[in-house]
Amino acid sequence: MLPKDYITLEQQYSAHTYHPLEVVLEKGEGVWLYDVAGHKYLDCLSAYSAINQGHCHPRLVKVLVEQAQQLTLTSRAFYNSKLPLFYQSLCETTGYDMAIAMNSGAEAVETALKTARKWGYQTKKVEPNKAEIIVCQGNFHGRTIAIIGFSSEPQYQADFGPFAPGFVTVPYGDAKALETAITPNTVGFLVEPIQGECGVVVPPPGYLKKVQQICQKHQVLFMADEIQTGLGRTGQLFACDDEGVRPDIMILGKALAGGFYPVSAVLADKAIMGLFRPGDHGSTFGGNPLGAAIATEALAIIREEGLIENAHQLGTYFQERLAEIPSPYVKEVRGRGLLIGVELKPEAGGARRFCEALRGRGILCKETHQHVIRFAPPLVVTKEVIDWALERITDVLNMK
Ligand SMILES: *Cc1c(COP(=O)(O)O)cnc(C)c1O
Repeated sequence: MLPKDYITLEQQYSAHTYHPLEVVLEKGEGVWLYDVAGHKYLDCLSAYSAINQGHCHPRLVKVLVEQAQQLTLTSRAFYNSKLPLFYQSLCETTGYDMAIAMNSGAEAVETALKTARKWGYQTKKVEPNKAEIIVCQGNFHGRTIAIIGFSSEPQYQADFGPFAPGFVTVPYGDAKALETAITPNTVGFLVEPIQGECGVVVPPPGYLKKVQQICQKHQVLFMADEIQTGLGRTGQLFACDDEGVRPDIMILGKALAGGFYPVSAVLADKAIMGLFRPGDHGSTFGGNPLGAAIATEALAIIREEGLIENAHQLGTYFQERLAEIPSPYVKEVRGRGLLIGVELKPEAGGARRFCEALRGRGILCKETHQHVIRFAPPLVVTKEVIDWALERITDVLNMK
C-alpha cells in the first residue's frame, strides 16, 4: 500500500476529528520515526509529550511483553501484584501520600474534579451542590463533556452543550483575578503550570507561588494539571518545581507509561485522597497489572537515565539557539526545558506550512493553535541531533 492509500482508507472509515500531517508512520526508535516509504524523521512532538522516554524503549518493551504473558487485567474487584508497587513508586517519586490510577488524561482530570468537590463538601463544609472550581482562560484539560464545558475554545464546545455548572474562568497568569473570583464556595483552582495546547504559554514569574499562597489563604485546593508538563518535560520532575510550589492535587498522564499504554493518575495527601470510600469512583482498566508494570518501569527510566537533567540542559540550549535564528517570521521563542513554542508573526501565514516544510526536511512537528510551532522531542535527544535539527529549522524559518 502507498502512503496515500492508508490516508484514503482512514478518511473513509474514521470520524474526521483530526487534521494530521500527511505522513504514515510505522516504526519508532528513540527520537526517530520511520514512515511506510522508509523515510526517517526526528520526532519533535513526542505524541504531545507522552513519549518522554523515547519510542519503543527496550526496557518498556521487555516489561510489556513479560507482563502480557503473565497477567493483564483483573479489575479492581481483586488485588493484583503490580499495582501496589506502582503506587509506592509513584508516591515515593513525587512525595505525595496517595494516588489513584486512571487511564486517559481527561479521566484523571475528571477524577481530580471529583476529589476537590468531595473535599469541599466533607472538609470545607460547602453547602450541597454549591461547589465551584476556578479554571483558566486558554486551558486544555481534555475532551469530556464536563471538561469542554469550561474550555474557552469555541470549537471545543460548539454543538456539544449543555455543560456542567460549577466552573468559573479567570485569565491565565493573573493571580489577582484568581483571588477576586474566590467565593466561600470555591473548592479548587485547576491550572496548567505552562499551557501546552494553548501554544506553550508560560505565566509570569512568581505566578504559581502567588497561586499557592492565595489558595492556602482562602482554603482552596491548588490543582495542577501536569499531564503535559510533568515527568521531566520542562527540565524538572514537575513544572511546578521551578517555583518551588507543591500543589494539593497533582494530575499526571501521557509520559507516565512512556507511550506504551494509557496510564494516568491523581496524587494528593491523605487528608484529601483519603476521603474516597469504596464505590465512590472506579474504572475497569484503571490500575490494571499491565499498565501498572509498564508505568513503574517508565518512572524508573525517567529517574535512572537522567532524562530530567537532559531536558533541562538541552532544553535551555535548544531554546537559546532557536531564539538566535534570524528569521523574518518569528515573533517569540518561549517555553521551558524541552517544551518549546516558536510563535510566528501573523504575516507568516500560519504555522502549518512551516510544519509541512519541516516534514519535508525530516522533522515532525505540529502546529498548536494557528501560529505556534511546538518543539518537544523525546527527552533522550542528544546535542548532536538538536544541532542537526537547528540547521533544518533555520532553513525553514527563512523560506519564502
Ligand atoms: C493531553 C492533555 C490532557 C488530556 O489527556 P488525554 O489523555 O488526551 O485525555 C489534559 N491536560 C493536559 C494539560 C494535556 O496536555
